[in-house]
Amino acid sequence: MNRTTSEHLYEEALQHIVGGVNSPSRSFKAVGGGAPVFMKRAGGSRFWDEDGNEYIDYLAAYGPIITGHAHPHITAAITQAAENGLLYGTPTQLEIKLAKMLKEAIPSMDKVRFVNSGTEAVMTTIRVARAYTKRSKIVKFAGCYHGHSDLVLVAAGSGPSTLGIPDSAGVPASIAQEVITVPFNDLDALREALDKWGADVAAVMVEPIVGNFGMVMPQPGFLKGLCKQAHDNGSLVIYDEVITAFRFHYGSTQTYAGLDHHEDIIPDLTALGKIIGGGLPIGAYGGRKHVMEQVAPLGPAYQAGTMAGNPASISAGIACLEVLAAEGVYDEMERLAIRLTEGLQASADRHGIPLTINRIRGAFSTHFCNHPVTNYDEAQDTDGGLFASFFRHMLNRGINLAPSKYEAWFLTTAHTDADIDATLEAAEASFRAMAAEK
Ligand code: PMP
Repeated sequence: MNRTTSEHLYEEALQHIVGGVNSPSRSFKAVGGGAPVFMKRAGGSRFWDEDGNEYIDYLAAYGPIITGHAHPHITAAITQAAENGLLYGTPTQLEIKLAKMLKEAIPSMDKVRFVNSGTEAVMTTIRVARAYTKRSKIVKFAGCYHGHSDLVLVAAGSGPSTLGIPDSAGVPASIAQEVITVPFNDLDALREALDKWGADVAAVMVEPIVGNFGMVMPQPGFLKGLCKQAHDNGSLVIYDEVITAFRFHYGSTQTYAGLDHHEDIIPDLTALGKIIGGGLPIGAYGGRKHVMEQVAPLGPAYQAGTMAGNPASISAGIACLEVLAAEGVYDEMERLAIRLTEGLQASADRHGIPLTINRIRGAFSTHFCNHPVTNYDEAQDTDGGLFASFFRHMLNRGINLAPSKYEAWFLTTAHTDADIDATLEAAEASFRAMAAEK
């Protein structure tokens, strides 16, 4: 596959844009480097690059594009919003409509506030929890990603529960000291952390279903135990559902079938983003009324935004949720994901390539290993070289995946059986080539 235009554009981008990309996750650094593909156009399940190559897309822009690219209902909503004026700096009726849709789907959100990104949403839930509890520390789980604000760019030290160490230059050690990191799915480690630092812990924050070191389910009882331990300690529970809300069903983790009893896993605050903006920039956070009343102008916790609640993002979000509310939409994404994952597994097995797939409804992650992946340590203990090889083989056969061994594949409402057939054919050829390289 010829990608010389992408290569030239990358050279040019490097002259003007730091690292040539506007988010590090878009670089090919984790898969051996080189030029990322410069896409020119997208529609439905497909991408076309600057050289005219066609790809089937499973990146879905890291999650938001759950209805496929350029969905006509969303495009029409954005066009209408643009014609009516892009930004008012005043309240609009549209904001009420999306807020009501979110509240109906996520019952623990009595009150909502819109912001512009998942990062902002998470960052503010922490401020609100600190304002409410008058405590300063948060507990987070190793490998969960919560955006790029200082406090959550903190990694685990060694040991089951540790004060954090900065995961990025520019994050002061004093800030990392405000974060305690424990392994996901490990209630004993959480207990230990709360025993040690509990009096200072404002909130326990978690991706209740993990999307950032693969797709990882909470083990039965984990969220229930987490909520109980946090609440017994006087701490709030924050669910970061930036990836997961509206991903598996029309709602959030607290209403996801098959998990612990709904009443036992209710967070105090929830952070949202991605899907709820239908592809335009958005974030939102919400929670129990008396907690949310900490937020300005009602309360002392300040948070504002020039672009927050802009009519285009809100209209796209409403349109996206309208598409997702239709009967059978999630079942169909799951049906395709089952076909795809069963085919991938069989193909990898046939060629002796170690592969563990974590699938949750229409999303899944592929881990090049023979062990289960239930926490970050297990997700790290996989073969990055095999992933990089698979990624490149698939790309060269017209399949677009995220250039990271931790990211999910997302089915969308635009994918078809023909897409799955073509993807499985590409995978069979890729695994065969990888086996020959061994
Ligand atoms: N939280 C989670 C769980 C995420 O996956 C992400 C982004 N991948 C964020 C927060 C940050 O969202 P954004 O990139 O919109 O700032």
